[in-house]
Amino acid sequence: MGLLEEGTPLSWEDTKRYASHVKSHGIIQFINQYHKQRDRTNDSLLWGDEVEYMIVKFDHKNKTARLSLKGSSVLKELHTAGRKIADAHTAAWRPEYADYMLESSPANPYHGNMVDLTLPEYNMRQRRQELTCLETDEFLVALTTFPRLGCYNCTYPTSNPTPDSMQSHSRFLSEKIISHDFPKYRLFEEHIRERRGKQVQINIPVYKDIHTVDPLQEDLSSKHWSIDNVPKVGKTDHIFMDNSGFGAGSCCLQVTVQANDIREAKYLYDQFIILCPIMVALSAAAPVNRGYLSDLDTRWTVISQAMDDRTDEELGLKVLKENKFVINKSRYDSVDSYLTCSACSDVKLVYDRDIFLKLKQEGVDDMLSKHIAHVFIRDPLTIFTESLNQNDNESTGHFENIYSSTWQSVRFKLPAPGSNAGWQIEFRAMDVQLTDFENAAYIVFIILTSRVILTFGLNFVVPMSKADENFSRSHKRDAITSETFYFRNDLTGRCCCENADEEYDQMTVNEIVNGKKNFVGLVPLINKYLDMIDVDFLTRRKIQDYLYLVSSRASGKLKTMAGWIRDFVLNHQDYQQDSVVSETINYDLLLKCVNVSQEENFDFKLFTNEKSCNI
Ligand code: GLU
Ligand code: MG
Repeated sequence: MGLLEEGTPLSWEDTKRYASHVKSHGIIQFINQYHKQRDRTNDSLLWGDEVEYMIVKFDHKNKTARLSLKGSSVLKELHTAGRKIADAHTAAWRPEYADYMLESSPANPYHGNMVDLTLPEYNMRQRRQELTCLETDEFLVALTTFPRLGCYNCTYPTSNPTPDSMQSHSRFLSEKIISHDFPKYRLFEEHIRERRGKQVQINIPVYKDIHTVDPLQEDLSSKHWSIDNVPKVGKTDHIFMDNSGFGAGSCCLQVTVQANDIREAKYLYDQFIILCPIMVALSAAAPVNRGYLSDLDTRWTVISQAMDDRTDEELGLKVLKENKFVINKSRYDSVDSYLTCSACSDVKLVYDRDIFLKLKQEGVDDMLSKHIAHVFIRDPLTIFTESLNQNDNESTGHFENIYSSTWQSVRFKLPAPGSNAGWQIEFRAMDVQLTDFENAAYIVFIILTSRVILTFGLNFVVPMSKADENFSRSHKRDAITSETFYFRNDLTGRCCCENADEEYDQMTVNEIVNGKKNFVGLVPLINKYLDMIDVDFLTRRKIQDYLYLVSSRASGKLKTMAGWIRDFVLNHQDYQQDSVVSETINYDLLLKCVNVSQEENFDFKLFTNEKSCNI
């Protein structure tokens, strides 16, 4: 969730005042660093994962599961136990937005040897074991969204919102859930709200069951609410949420890959844009919001609305006066532009023309210039006094301020000054999975797909309008089996030519992953690649298990996490067919999640989909 900075934060008024300072120096810093790094080459494949977790506390007597607000103290204990947040041990632990969250990655990156593909699962397991300071009724759970986040008493210690006295005026979330050791997180919430001039408004379609209140139109005015400036009710038949924490307080699985050079990084970036929605549908794990079953399966739409800082002018609702651009997406959203295929960029890109021209003048190519000039239509959300003045030759702090708080589904990363890091791409869109096995499987699948792309010279790119359409389809309930996605028929073809329409088809995730007549499929391609190279027996066996998981989820033979959670709720004895996920259902679900995540071996049977057809 952006770089962690400590220091004295500027007020929103001052942040606005210094926005152009940060932007102009950010661009100079990018140019300086670009010049130093653009010709670097022969960086080896390095990669790593980031897993986010929640700390859940059970009260077995009262059958409740709550979010335990102790992330900061757990991190402190890891320190006092002789650990630094990022030392040479198994894991690097970091805080995340909410104090019930923790983020971890391997302490050191993995390398290109095939045997390294077997390491993340083991490493993830060890990471969990490092957290020895939890109480016996507390567990670290890799859960994407806490089902009852925003319901009464959802945290431990209890911290219910006091809308009238809190700055955020949220009716559902107390500001105490925000991780308190790093002011940046609080500022994201505050300044997104300040920038918009009102609260965020998150509306997620509710899953309509036979006894769901019809129409579902919550009367929120009754929730001891007296502040104006917010709608009294959310949209009809939607779950309404009013605070950034609903998105930023959810967990994801990310993977970062180092490329050989900038050319390869740009190429992989474009391919990952297309892979994203497929992985979103495969990793879907968030079908419940604020105690209601939703009609979407993933966290993405929530977090996208939760971090949307656009003003009414930028949304096109008012004439542009204070702001410069009408912007079509939230700053937490899918990618808008490719870096290698200009013919496929059929969506009008909003970008800052002055910045674009400056970058071009400095020898940055057209597409990268547009990409940076597009990201820089955003303002900084946070500025710290201590980092106002930076050496533009040595730092990229101002650049990263804006760049890494514009949370795209895939991020093209500039090598960091003062490190050996090369050009990298970060894959950011996946919901996190419950078990180490699943998280490792998805990471390994992405790494292997990247190898296949490079080895066989594959090209996934379709017109950006189609990539956007794929992304919005990927969140829908049961997208994994019900939706189709635009995908190229011939993966060896070059980018969109005149007959672009004939180059792609609409395929299910199953067809894309497992193949169909006249289309080979990603898993068969990976197997072909593995057959070509030298892989020892045990490594291959492990990889085969991972591929089996991905392939079986794609075919519908195994449920996604979202499907599994949804079915758990629908089949629970207390479920009233009214979309409501009660305290008891939440408790039983969380208890089950803990048990499943602690199993040594992944239980494929548990996720079997009786309704499925065979692969
Ligand atoms: N928790 C955020 C998510 O679910 C990601 C934060 C980050 O960028 O590390 O997407
Ligand atoms: Mg994170």
